[in-house]
Amino acid sequence: MEWPEFAATSLWRGIWREDWRFEPVDLVTVADYVGVEILTWHPEEEKLNGALIRNAGTVFVNASLTRPRMRFAAAHEIGHYVLGHEGDLFCPYGRYAVQEREANLFAAALLIPAAVIKLFWLKLSNIAPAVRVAVVAERLAVSRQALSYRLETVGMAGRAARGWPCLA
Ligand SMILES: [Zn+2]
Repeated sequence: MEWPEFAATSLWRGIWREDWRFEPVDLVTVADYVGVEILTWHPEEEKLNGALIRNAGTVFVNASLTRPRMRFAAAHEIGHYVLGHEGDLFCPYGRYAVQEREANLFAAALLIPAAVIKLFWLKLSNIAPAVRVAVVAERLAVSRQALSYRLETVGMAGRAARGWPCLA
């Protein structure tokens, strides 16, 4: 298991509750747990997803994103914080530096825990794969694209892709 995945999984286990029922991971609880605050803002540079002002313990998320993308951006910035990436960070769309990749891996693992995805897949095994992806993405408040990447990471992409015409 890669370090960002390990960090996210450990964090998720720390906030897991007995009465948890397949709802989106509560990022306010996560933020409180690690000691940061999440705020939204309208960046002058439109193509920024989010930012981390480390010394202020504050994560900023672009308010014009869709809800799933805002959640992913917040989890990504929390990832930079938890993974110890130094300095203040401003995260544009589609940048693939090592730290960005690590923060994305962290965010995916936090919002779509491997244990949860496996439970969902069993629970929804009688539903067609394409529909299942849509249902799970909706239930976890993540984008279908984030979920499809995550399925690859946890080695379930083959099963997810069957009957799924638009992966390209
Ligand atoms: Zn970033």
